[in-house]
Amino acid sequence: MYKLLIVEDEEVIRSGLALNLSREGYDVLTEEQGDVALQRILSESPDLVLLDIRLPGMNGFEVCRELRHRGIDRPVIMLTAKTEEIDRVTGLEIGADDYVLKPFSIRELEARIRIQLRHSAQRRRSAVAKYRFGEVEIDLKHRHVARQGQRLELTPKEFETLRFMIEHRGEVLSRERMLAEVWGYSTDANTRTLDTHILHLRKKLEADPAQPRYIVSVYGEGYQFKE
Ligand code: CA
Repeated sequence: MYKLLIVEDEEVIRSGLALNLSREGYDVLTEEQGDVALQRILSESPDLVLLDIRLPGMNGFEVCRELRHRGIDRPVIMLTAKTEEIDRVTGLEIGADDYVLKPFSIRELEARIRIQLRHSAQRRRSAVAKYRFGEVEIDLKHRHVARQGQRLELTPKEFETLRFMIEHRGEVLSRERMLAEVWGYSTDANTRTLDTHILHLRKKLEADPAQPRYIVSVYGEGYQFKE
């Protein structure tokens, strides 16, 4: 089930969209303020964001720019009242994927959402079928990992942790999110389990595991895969 976040301060539009999109089978989250929405995107990582431009807290342009700045490439569809606003968007190149003009039909919006979700899935798949960093080569499809041409043995969870980090390379990933995505919510695994897996991955993959170049810690926030 795809998770969508609607960021819209007008109650009527927000609740109308939420109702229609949940009927279509999406898991729908809503926010009214830009700054709060940004935090929500970072913590819950929705598959797609519908973003109004004029918002309290932080406007839609700023939210989108900040997401891209943090390496988050989830699709963003801007909801806008006027074409002039979108001229500004393209002018500023803030990294939105699409926009719809208010008032829009829910059918049109859904079609745009489906297109963006499909593109996003394709980007991810094609981007990560094979991946190289440093002396390491990974075939994600066949689950082969080699370093300097030598096949490495990774446990299934080590492999999944690595795959998740590569698929979200550049993003700062909280331990909670990594646990939820790799181990699932109903699990006995805790953040120490994750830390141990990270240590093992560094030993197997990094030239200097004590000074990791790729699988780095971000103080107070979690981990990040650096290209
Ligand atoms: Ca607004």
